[in-house]
Formats: sequence, C-alpha cells, structure tokens
Amino acid sequence: MTKEEALKTYFGYDAFRGGQEAVIDALLSGRDALAVMPTGAGKSVCYQIPALLLPGITLVISPLVSLMRDQVTALVQMGIPAAFLNSSLTFRQYLLALDRAREGRYKIIYAAPERLETEGFRAFAGTADISLIAVDEAHCISQWGQDFRPSYLNIPAFAASLPRRPVMGAFTATATPEVKEDIEHLLALRAPLRLATGFDRENLYFEVRQPGDKKSALLELVRGRPGKCGIVYCATRKAVEEVCQFLRDQGVPAARYHAGLEAEERRQSQEDFLYDRAQVMVATNAFGMGIDKSDVRYVVHYNMPKDMESYYQEAGRAGRDGLPASCVLLYSGQDVRTNEYLITHSEAREGVDEAAAERLRERDLQRLRQMAGYCRTRHCLRQHILRYFGQDAPDYCGTCYNCLHNFKEVEVGREAQAIVRCVAETGQHFGVGVIAETLCGADTDRVRKYRMERQASYGALEALSQRAVRERIRFLLDEGILTLSPGQYPVLQLGERAEDVVRNGPALYMRTVEEERPAAARRQAPAELEGGQAELFGRLRALRARIARRQGVPAYVVFSDRTLREMAALQPRTTEELRTVSGVGDAKAGRYGRAFLEEIQAFGER
Ligand code: ADP
Ligand code: ZN
Repeated sequence: MTKEEALKTYFGYDAFRGGQEAVIDALLSGRDALAVMPTGAGKSVCYQIPALLLPGITLVISPLVSLMRDQVTALVQMGIPAAFLNSSLTFRQYLLALDRAREGRYKIIYAAPERLETEGFRAFAGTADISLIAVDEAHCISQWGQDFRPSYLNIPAFAASLPRRPVMGAFTATATPEVKEDIEHLLALRAPLRLATGFDRENLYFEVRQPGDKKSALLELVRGRPGKCGIVYCATRKAVEEVCQFLRDQGVPAARYHAGLEAEERRQSQEDFLYDRAQVMVATNAFGMGIDKSDVRYVVHYNMPKDMESYYQEAGRAGRDGLPASCVLLYSGQDVRTNEYLITHSEAREGVDEAAAERLRERDLQRLRQMAGYCRTRHCLRQHILRYFGQDAPDYCGTCYNCLHNFKEVEVGREAQAIVRCVAETGQHFGVGVIAETLCGADTDRVRKYRMERQASYGALEALSQRAVRERIRFLLDEGILTLSPGQYPVLQLGERAEDVVRNGPALYMRTVEEERPAAARRQAPAELEGGQAELFGRLRALRARIARRQGVPAYVVFSDRTLREMAALQPRTTEELRTVSGVGDAKAGRYGRAFLEEIQAFGER
C-alpha cells in the first residue's frame, strides 16, 4: 500500500495537506523528523500513516491521558488496530492490553511518558518490534515550553535502550526557537527533517477590544451572531460561573466547563456544545483539547491569556472548517496584573530547582509582556502573531480589526495633566469610573456622595465624552503615568511619570480609532449550505448522534461536521459516490455507509 492509498482507504482523504507528505516520507525512509504545525493542521496523520506502512508497532507518546481514549476510538473506527496504555486502565485491563500488544495485534499504541519508566512496560518494549516513536506535544520536553513535563526527558534513554533504536518523529505547535532547539537536542533526534508549516489561518478575523464593561461587550458579540456557536474563554473558574450565568440570564443558551466541575457535568456540557444544544461554551483553558468541533464561528477571550502560544491555540479552535470565523480578545489592564501576580507567586515546578524556577518566572513575565503587546498594538494583528511565531508577514492583511480601521494620533498632553491633577487632588482614592465622571462634570450619585463637584478638576474635561476620558485614562495606565492599586476595587494612583507630566506637560501622543476602512480586501466566504441541504445536514447530524450514542463514542469520531456537510451537498446515492466524500474511508463506509445512504435517499423522496 502506498501512502496515498492509506490516506484514502483509512482516512477517506484525497490529498495530503501542506507538510504532511514531507514528514511521512522522512519517517518512512528511516529519518527522524521534527514537525512544527499549528493546531488543526493535521499532525496525527503524519505519524499514523507511517505507522500503517512500517512493519511492527508505532509508539505514540502523548501527555494527555484524558485524550488517548478518544484518539484510539477514532483510529479503531477507521479500521486501524490501536490501544492505549495508561492509568485509566485497571491493572487487569493493562495486562490484557500488553498481552495483545505482544501478540502483535496493534499497529499503534499510545502511552504517557511516565509509562516508559515502569518495569512491565520496559520488559514488553525490549521484546517488541517498535519501528517508530512519535512524540506528540513534543514541547513538553522543554523547560521553555508551556507545559514542561520532566518525564519527557526520559524518552531518548528509553529509545536508546531498545534492541534497535526506532525512528523518531516529534510534533508540536510551539514554534519558538529555544523550544525547537530543546526538542531536537533533548530528544536526541538524529539529523532530523525540520519542517514548519505556515502558521497563518487565513479565515480567522482578529480583534482586540478594551471595553469599559466586558459583559455588555460580550453580549453584543454573542447577539451579533445569532445561531452561531462560539467559545468564551475565561481566566478563572469563578469568571466562568459568572459569565455563564450572565449569558443564561440574558437568554443565551450557554454551557460551562472547568476543572472544578464533576466529570459528569463536564461530559454533559461538552456534549451539549458538540450537539449544538448549547450555543455558547464558557470555559477555562481546560476546555478544547481534542475537541473536533469544526464549526465554531467565534472564540472570545474574556480575559487575556498568559502568552501568545495559549492565545493562538485557543483562538485557533475557531473556524477549523476553513469558513470565516472571528477571534476577539477583551482586554483590560487588570488581566496583565492578575497574570503578573500569578507568575511571581508561582511555585517551582516539579523537577526544577529554585534558580531555574526564577529564570522561568522571568521568562513567563517576558511572554506576558509580549501578550500585552499584542493587545496594545495598532498595527496588523495577524502580522503580530505570525512574527511572534517566527514567520514573516506583510504589514497589512486587510482582514484584522487594525487593518480595517484607521488610527490617528491625538495630542493629549493637556488632558493628561488634568487627569493626573484630578487623581492627585482627590487623594488617589477613586477608581476609573468616578474619576472620569468627575472630569466630565457628570451629576451622578457617586459624584454627589463624594462631593466631587467641589473639586477644582470637576468638569475640567467636559468637552470630552466619558468614553474618551476613559480611553485617555487607559492610555496613561499603559504609559505608566498612572497605576491601578491591586485588589478587588482598584483605585487610580500616580505612577512614576506622573510628576513629569504635570511639571513639563510633554507632548503625549495617543493612537485612537479614526474611522472604519471599507473591507475591500476581505476574503470571499465559501458558499453556505442552501435550505434543503441545510435540512439534510441537520438530519445527518441527528443520525450521527444516534449512532454515536449507541456505540458510546463521541460524535466526531463517526464522521466530522465537514464530512456531513459535504454529504449534504453532494447527496451520494451509491457506496462509490459516498466514498468520494472527504473523510469516508473503507472502514466507515462499510460500517455506516448504508445508514447514511438510506437517510439521504429518504430525504430525497420526502
Ligand atoms: P493537529 O493534531 O495538528 O491539531 P489533527 O491531526 O487533529 O490536527 O487534524 C485536524 C483535522 O484535520 C482532523 O479532523 C483530521 O482528520 C483532518 N485532516 C488531517 N489531514 C487531512 C488531509 N490531508 N485532508 C483532509 N483533512 C485532514
Ligand atoms: Zn491585519
């Protein structure tokens, strides 16, 4: 069997995607490979096809025990004999799986890195014919990576201890140079093929907002996309609870997901979202790994994540079907301070001494600053992301918020002086809201309660709207001219540069939105399903749900949305026609073909 035949027979795909072929060829020829590809690019195929074509067993080392079961289920559905060996098995199940592995019944075995250190597994590996080791999420080997996992360091010794050192393939979505270097050296790859595919996701729209009120900004985003599903990422469990409740109160069908919920509720929420019973999923970063819901139309970050890697990975869960989708980040300076606090107060990670831990904290702070830089830039957001991942990109993408708006520089020196004076004269006791109302000369309960109308700066900026004053205050915070106190009710205080501003009144230039540019360069959206096709798509999804439930597997391992969409558009009548649909391989055509063909036929005769 050739690699093309394997792609069609097992996976049901007609062509390889960028980069896949090169990696597969390298591994098949016995050469190590290091592949850097963004989430959703199709890394798994890069080792699953060599696994099918090479003699013996492929060992996949993966950090996520919780995902292995689904990955293996998906393989088995495609007719590929696979198993996982991890702590979720009982000891008896584990021994049984090892026995079968010894009998050569599996082509692919998933294991967590810790497993390699156990005696039973070593004994098995010493006699088994392991021809390929695929290291998934390979950045876990690096202290510079996001999720350092010390037991990854044992992988090269394990490989070397085998009777014949297998070919090694390392896979990650993290592209920073230190991490790539670490992977190559620490895994002891031998003259590997180094492959990095482009990181751009053309169908994604990027925007950063800095709203005074995040909840109403979120509601506007959600209401502006009726019937579309989206994910809202929050930094904490508490925020998830609050935001989810808020959306429900507003009549939005929302589900919630975080590590503090019972497994049963997590499963239920995930299912509600996958089956479109809940339109919006409000979650911490615990949600999303291995979720193959391809029609997520928007991802909103209610809080700024800790680094660009996390952001791009989470935002990248939008639009995996290649159709247009939005990624909007709701930024506030408080997000930066919260993250700063978490980093500086973090405990040293397992297997890391205090000096190294300090270096890591420094590194994390650096990453945090880069993330904040993304939130503040007025230049092309796509370019900012791609440059971060080491890829060059033009100044203008024409599709992100910043490219679609003109920014002008306004001189705010005099206004800055007025704001600083107001903060100083009211004793540095008040938050952004009260200060803005005072400067605008507003007549509100708070202003009256604190007798702000008696202050000299009352009404000093009455020519500006409160929104404009808030924008200027945020600018001064970013410039370090003002600071916000920590705690639940942050108050404005004078920063290091405040005195300078009052004394010298330097020319201060703030960038602000001038006008919207016509979205001339916006890319054409692929056609949506027409009425009848959309209805059929709905029926096929319902059929998929019934099949999945009966078999106790997640719906997407039966067929992906993309595959069902194509079925609804093509409406195949025979098995041959069905086999031309992307994502229908031999095993699935045999197993489900009839059911789906019958559904399509019944729909045509209705
Ligand atoms: P990654 O691990 O890089 O995030 P996956 O391996 O999960 O990505 O693949 C993402 C999706 O793309 C999966 O649904 C997969 O089946 C699909 N895919 C992979 N390769 C191809 C291909 N050559 N043609 C069409 N779809 C593909
Ligand atoms: Zn742009």
